[in-house]
Amino acid sequence: MDAQQWRIDVDREVCAGTGLCVGTAAGRLRLDAGRARPVREVVEPDQAVVDAAETCPMEAITVRSLTTGEVLAPEL
Ligand code: SF4
Repeated sequence: MDAQQWRIDVDREVCAGTGLCVGTAAGRLRLDAGRARPVREVVEPDQAVVDAAETCPMEAITVRSLTTGEVLAPEL
């Protein structure tokens, strides 16, 4: 397994459906039934998904290292 892979989780209960993340991380997140979800849950490192997690007004997006589970974004 690639040690550099990341996992994107979206809490769809918390997501407000603003679509901001879809604009920030095009191709990484999409809207589905008015809420965001990852296009793929496991991705190569991509600053755009960090930016999306940092800018989500609801902090609904979490980016973790797939191998360690460390939360990479948003910063606490
Ligand atoms: S930016 Fe946050 S609240 Fe807005 S659609 Fe994306 S996950 Fe949902």
